[in-house]
Amino acid sequence: MNALSPFPAPLGGACDAPVIRQERGQREVFCGLTGIVWLHRKIQDAFFLVVGSRTCAHLLQSAAGVMIFAEPRFATAILEDRDLAGVADIDDELDAVVDRLLTRRPEIKLLFLVGSCPSEVIKIDLSRAAARQSRIHAPRVRILSYSGSGVETTFTQGEDACLAALVPTLPEEAPNAPPSLLVVGALADVVEDQFARLFDALGIASVRFLPMRRAANLPSVGPNTSFLLAQPFLADTARALEERGARHIEAPFPLGVEGATLWLQAAARAFGVSEARFHAAIEAPRVRAAQALTHYREALAGKRIFLFPDSQLEPVLARFLSREMGMRIIEIGTPYLHRRHMASELSLLPPDTPIVEGQHVDRQLDRCRAAKPDLVLCGLGLANPLEAEGFTTKWSIELLFSPIQGFDQAGDLAELFARPLRRRVRLEA
Ligand code: SF4
Repeated sequence: MNALSPFPAPLGGACDAPVIRQERGQREVFCGLTGIVWLHRKIQDAFFLVVGSRTCAHLLQSAAGVMIFAEPRFATAILEDRDLAGVADIDDELDAVVDRLLTRRPEIKLLFLVGSCPSEVIKIDLSRAAARQSRIHAPRVRILSYSGSGVETTFTQGEDACLAALVPTLPEEAPNAPPSLLVVGALADVVEDQFARLFDALGIASVRFLPMRRAANLPSVGPNTSFLLAQPFLADTARALEERGARHIEAPFPLGVEGATLWLQAAARAFGVSEARFHAAIEAPRVRAAQALTHYREALAGKRIFLFPDSQLEPVLARFLSREMGMRIIEIGTPYLHRRHMASELSLLPPDTPIVEGQHVDRQLDRCRAAKPDLVLCGLGLANPLEAEGFTTKWSIELLFSPIQGFDQAGDLAELFARPLRRRVRLEA
């Protein structure tokens, strides 16, 4: 076993508040291209064209696991040697690729050009290319750009960059428009439908979702728009919405019974819904969700978990696992911590919970090995080596691909953490 590596110096805070520290070093996280895997399913007439290398193409193909004959709504325009040697005009090449794509796939209504890491791609002005191609293909197709490069984004920041690129294109809300609620962050359709029904039961009349399911259904935005973040990794999108005059409703995130209750309650209060109506609307699903969690509490209570940084969901998951499932949190790693968006979550974490923002993977591995947790939440790159060392792991990417928000998914969320522990017991039996 390795010796316990020194913990980085804390940034400060109240004595019973979570201890937030920063760490810099080698990271083990996906790049922002990964977000395409769930975004292309969400916006049903959008297409994501990555301008990148064969590595980018392989990442997407293996992460999405889509057969090529299934006509997925993403692809990679791979830079070839003649592009890199300056023989070909990159703008002309890109225009030709987009032309061919839009001719062959007339159902595409929204096209994202997605930047990546290779230095030749960084030199291409994709926003200018998108504006040029938009002029050619408007009004049939809207063309936008953002970066999913691993130099600029980690994993879930790709969704943030994509939604932030959409915000300037949202129509201005009508003058004197009634107050409306915008739910921001990709949710599985089934979860979105459940929340829409709950907002309806609360009497909140105008509720829209970003991203929208169809390119033509862009929600309008303005000073009468209040927005609720459904995901904790949308800092740039939130800033862009605030610049359009929208107001952020501060709340914990809707994971677990407590998170879903507080998230809905924040919206209810912002829209003047009475406490009686709020409790009547959520009572039945809340009770169902609480019962679903009891099945998993025995398996999880008292178990120690170490969370490596990956998706920015880590503090939210730790809050759910500690407060509702009785797990003990050894360390919460997160690639980036938005202090304001995460304030409600941090106040719910057990006192003195160590939170590490950023990553020095070797030191973090040393601390994990020394602590010998029962369960490790980590990215795919760390999971196999840790399993080989005898640790039980949960892939953090599954938390993005699975519907986990809201009351009806609380049991499924607990199951995702209970399953690897059960598998370990079976292996050892
Ligand atoms: S964007 Fe960068 S980190 Fe991501 S797959 Fe392409 S080369 Fe790799």
